[in-house]
Amino acid sequence: MAGFPSVSHEARQHLLEHKLKRATIVSPLPVLPPHSPFEQELLTHRAKLASLNNDQAKQYVRAIGVFIPQTLTDNNVSSFEITCKSCQEVLAYVYADDATLLNWHATYYVSSYDATRWYGCMAVNVSPIDSALGFECACGVDTRDFRANRNTLLKQRTQDNLEQRTFGKSKSAFKAIHKSEDSWLRQNILA
Ligand SMILES: [Zn+2]
Repeated sequence: MAGFPSVSHEARQHLLEHKLKRATIVSPLPVLPPHSPFEQELLTHRAKLASLNNDQAKQYVRAIGVFIPQTLTDNNVSSFEITCKSCQEVLAYVYADDATLLNWHATYYVSSYDATRWYGCMAVNVSPIDSALGFECACGVDTRDFRANRNTLLKQRTQDNLEQRTFGKSKSAFKAIHKSEDSWLRQNILA
């Protein structure tokens, strides 16, 4: 299918081996906002993963599941499912104070593939200007913040799409819906 990100030979083999029509990946480690109190903990996991070979890394991820800082689940923070209004695919799960995602704490991207193409999140972007979350969807919708980029075309594109970047508005490109942690974790990781 032209225009959509295509799938590697390895990815197709994975589908065949496991008799799957489609496989979904949820990032085991989160993207954090700047100056997050969980930065150090995340760095420790990242360093550990980097020191392992592929098979060991898979085992490690299986053992820790998704790394969610305990204080997030203890406090008054909710998790939200982010979907693309254009193609309806899930892009991420985000811990935030509310559905505006203005005050967000951790983001886990979601992408999936079948034998022909990728769906969902291709890139997570934290704005260097306001720390807001942006996403690039496999369908082409893109709310990454390029206002600090040298490329004038990219800069202008962000400027034109400012309303699409927000959450909870009629013009928002992506929508955030509260979804309890249990439902998305069990479905995607613990199943
Ligand atoms: Zn999309």
